[in-house]
Amino acid sequence: MIDIDAKTAPISPTGTAMYQLISDLYPICRSITGNGVEKTLAILQAYIPLEIHQVPTGTQVFDWTVPKEWNIRDAYVKNTRGEKVIDFQKSNLHVLNYSIPIQKKMPLSELKKHLFSMPDCPDWIPYRTSYYSENWGFCLTHRQLEQLEDGEYEVCIDSSLEPGYLTYGEYYLPGKSEEEVLFSCHICHPSLCNDNLSGISVVTFLAKQLRSLSLKYSYRFLFIPGTIGSITWLSLNESKTFQIKHGLIAAGLGDLGKLHYKKSRRGNAEIDKAVIHVLQHSGQDYQINDFSPYGYDERQFCSPGFNLPVGSLTRTPFGQYPQYHTSADNLDFVKPDKLADSLETYLAVVDILENNQTYLNTNPKCEPQLGKRGLYGTFGGTQDKKTKEMATLWVLNLADGNHSLLDICDRSGLDFSVIRDAANALLEGGLLSNK
Ligand SMILES: [Zn+2]
Repeated sequence: MIDIDAKTAPISPTGTAMYQLISDLYPICRSITGNGVEKTLAILQAYIPLEIHQVPTGTQVFDWTVPKEWNIRDAYVKNTRGEKVIDFQKSNLHVLNYSIPIQKKMPLSELKKHLFSMPDCPDWIPYRTSYYSENWGFCLTHRQLEQLEDGEYEVCIDSSLEPGYLTYGEYYLPGKSEEEVLFSCHICHPSLCNDNLSGISVVTFLAKQLRSLSLKYSYRFLFIPGTIGSITWLSLNESKTFQIKHGLIAAGLGDLGKLHYKKSRRGNAEIDKAVIHVLQHSGQDYQINDFSPYGYDERQFCSPGFNLPVGSLTRTPFGQYPQYHTSADNLDFVKPDKLADSLETYLAVVDILENNQTYLNTNPKCEPQLGKRGLYGTFGGTQDKKTKEMATLWVLNLADGNHSLLDICDRSGLDFSVIRDAANALLEGGLLSNK
């Protein structure tokens, strides 16, 4: 069946480029440590000047310890005829991520204790990890599992789990103020596209685009392994966290689902209001969810000892699509136009954060006479004119030093760009001053 939309809708060059980056990163076997992460960050350095940090195994980070470094060269299971019935070279999802090395012959009954499949989705390989308890295993399709005959199998996992480093990437883009906006994504998953090569791609292109702008805020972009990476970063950079005024965790941004925003723990932070405003005015379906202490790295940034204003903007949330953490989260599952739409949404949020100001009406006693200043009745088309007049009146009325432009949008129901333009005209006309 031909998808008419897909055939006629032009795909933006940015969406195509974001998809290409995902394609380049897809084959790499990543984990929370190891050279897969290093290879990934080296590819991203072609896009943005990422700084690479290495934290030694054994480093104490709050209640956690930086784990040993895991690397893998090959893995397979061979039957008695010497045929590879499971082969890491065909998919890196075949190995339980963080498997300890093993080279052993064993009967099927013993091997089966280390095999993981999905009976409900018999053609998909599940993604499984064992980071914090030493184990080994293989993941395979249920059909593969069912075809295994009784007999002896040769099991080989050529991996290493040794003292080394936890590696992460960081890019700091200085603005006029030292106050920061944080964007963070996890880089620890192997060949899985939506979770989270899509997040990596969106954050990379966001950073690339913001580099060319003159910005009010400074921006920090983190490319870190999930959980242990954010705990490590927060532990090593605690003194910098007071500068973080807004933040978003980027994940799951390439699937066909609608955008979902999970609020920060505070629930009414400026980032919450900014994202909600963008979604409300996007003309597309969306969903807002309250904070919960389960999910991605917002769990660490929003832990009570930090309680940072960090939300999470995704498409379909983790675990709510069947392809999640399986081999079906592949290059077919993410779409260039959805990646581009996600990036546009992030950029719209940045635009609001950059321009959200609180002003004072310099003529607060009764309405100023706008006509004599050319600020009334001089706008274009009728509908446009009415909207602009209303925006002007709303700004004048609420510019009392207690309402930001975003608050005024909330009260008036008008789009941020309309309110911002009205405020700029009033500022030029001398009717507003900075608070
Ligand atoms: Zn995941």
